[in-house]
Amino acid sequence: MTGPRPTTLEDAATLPAPTADTVQGRYLTDATSQPRSAADREHIMQNLRFGADFSDHMASARWTADTGWSDLQLLPYGPIPLDPSANVLHYAQEVFEGLKAYRHADGSIWLFRPMFNAGRLAASCRRMALPELPAEDFLASLVDLIRTDHEYVPHIEGGSLYLRPFIFGDGAGLGVKPSTSARYLCIASPSGPYFKNGFAPVSIWVTQQYHRAGPGGIGAAKTGGNYAASLLPQQEAQAQGYEQVCYLDSVHGTNLEELGGMNVFVVRADGKVQTPRLTGTILEGGTRSSIIQLLRDAGRQVEETAINFSELAEDIRRGAVTEMFACGTAAVVTPIGRLGFEGGEVELSQGTVTQEVYGTLTGIQYGRVEDRHGWMYRVM
Ligand SMILES: *Cc1c(COP(=O)(O)O)cnc(C)c1O
Repeated sequence: MTGPRPTTLEDAATLPAPTADTVQGRYLTDATSQPRSAADREHIMQNLRFGADFSDHMASARWTADTGWSDLQLLPYGPIPLDPSANVLHYAQEVFEGLKAYRHADGSIWLFRPMFNAGRLAASCRRMALPELPAEDFLASLVDLIRTDHEYVPHIEGGSLYLRPFIFGDGAGLGVKPSTSARYLCIASPSGPYFKNGFAPVSIWVTQQYHRAGPGGIGAAKTGGNYAASLLPQQEAQAQGYEQVCYLDSVHGTNLEELGGMNVFVVRADGKVQTPRLTGTILEGGTRSSIIQLLRDAGRQVEETAINFSELAEDIRRGAVTEMFACGTAAVVTPIGRLGFEGGEVELSQGTVTQEVYGTLTGIQYGRVEDRHGWMYRVM
């Protein structure tokens, strides 16, 4: 068993982040910008959905090989012109991130480990042959967008302003090569809880038929193509009565990897917690990393290891595994209630460890629990 050793992304996440005041003002607001009326905004804020409504602005930057990143702006949220031969539309040269702005009881607004997302965005860019956006320009885009559209950060716990930064190749031409130009945008969506039913267990189909990622592929990059590949499996699982899909490794088809957009954890009856080891085909989640730390803080043994699915199903049946949960920024922590697979189904009870992890993590994010690791970043 290997001891806790920070990953490259965890190292990036601990780099000193410049304060919001030092980076603010890099993205200037367009003078023609027309915000929504206060009444229209209030209607959205009283009826929070997930990822369905957007704030008044979006951060924007452009890249070419000659100029590098330039033209940093806050534009009115809205459609963008794109050449029909743009690289992203044909060859899917795209990466994205997802993080949330949380409002604390005193009205202040915070991000959770934004340097982790900055590091991961850069890593995804490298894999997808896109130009890396400097971490300070990334941070500045979040600060400027949130400060400008701060009224879209909900005041209720469980609510947040979901931020979606993304970069794509917008160069024209059908030649198969990295785009000669790129666009960065960050949009913001005032959101309620991700799952409509709140902290309710999800049912999961463990597919033997489809894989999310393969060795040497793009599974470790946060890129749209991985999600495109997950849509059909998801649709088929839903038709069979399951809400989400869990993938197994594509080499042996035996080891648990992750869901289409969330990492997974297993809680054993002896109190030990396990999560699949990062093999290069699993997306390294900031929520995953934080949960490992929080569990270790609480004195629990956490193993990043290979988790054989048939053994796991058997362990659930005989009570050696008592809880499982999925995690990611959008849904935070979601208990898994039922696992279906070719030839069987197992059920899990709702346990205390999942609840504990959820309580501590959201407590830190909403400023109710002490932030011992300096994860919170003050925006305003
Ligand atoms: C984004 C994502 C996650 C979760 O990452 P967080 O940083 O925790 O939000 C997990 N798996 C996949 C495939 C993802 O795209």
